[in-house]
Amino acid sequence: MTDLSPIELAKELMKSSSRISALTGAGISVDSGIPDFRSEGGLWTRYDPHEYATYESFLDDPSKFWTMGKELAKLFIKAIPNAGHKALANLEEDGRLIGIITQNIDNLHQTAGSKKVIEIHGNYLRAFCMECKKEYVGDSIHKRVAGGEVPPLCDDCGGVLKSEAVLFGEPLPESAMSEAIEVCRSTDLMLVIGTSLTVYPGAYLPQLAKTSGARIVLINLEGTNRDHVADVVIRGNASEVLPSII
Ligand code: NAD
Repeated sequence: MTDLSPIELAKELMKSSSRISALTGAGISVDSGIPDFRSEGGLWTRYDPHEYATYESFLDDPSKFWTMGKELAKLFIKAIPNAGHKALANLEEDGRLIGIITQNIDNLHQTAGSKKVIEIHGNYLRAFCMECKKEYVGDSIHKRVAGGEVPPLCDDCGGVLKSEAVLFGEPLPESAMSEAIEVCRSTDLMLVIGTSLTVYPGAYLPQLAKTSGARIVLINLEGTNRDHVADVVIRGNASEVLPSII
């Protein structure tokens, strides 16, 4: 088995597993036109997250978040799923994928056809009014933001809208976290895809799955400081590697 390439090893593990899961991060959506935020030229190199993306700074001055949101809106409205998202949707359709835990907020897994998607950082395409709690779904708010409405205000009461994407310092959605933990405890193979594994608690989930008996295949363009948790590490592009191993 040791003479096999990482791709071949991953294929072998896929064959002998029946409760496959995935943990995805920004890297899986790069080929859909949404760059990750940390790489050179990424969002965090231009907008200090402490100033633009913490829950505290949002409460202080929501127009800062939505000014950055104007840029994000343009990317998110145009993005479409790539071959990586589609391969995971096919795996679910075949009855072999028990769930995708995603740190992404772009809705691309759902657009690709995946049903069992657990969003531990929320979803950028949902928003709600901070005052009356009216909910907004889809890209209409982002089209208003892209057109210059910063911050966007509630149609009913004029309150400030907040995207459901979780900000730094904001509690994670509790039900999503318990579902994610359940998946980690019951999966027999976790595909960890396009994440630097630097944001917690997502970064800890592969370890939890491993401790619960799963094998781990990690697919990323570059090394992460948690590669040691993986049984197989594939250095590569998620939109090429996933269709080839699934
Ligand atoms: P990250 O930016 O910390 O790490 C992304 C990793 O993906 C990097 O290690 C990079 O080398 C790798 N990568 C880039 N392109 C790739 C490709 N084509 N194939 C395989 N790997 C590739 O992202 P993270 O760990 O997900 O954490 C960042 C946080 O920012 C998350 O919480 C997420 O919510 C948010 N975010 C979301 C989106 C999105 O929804 N699409 C985009 C950017 C950031």
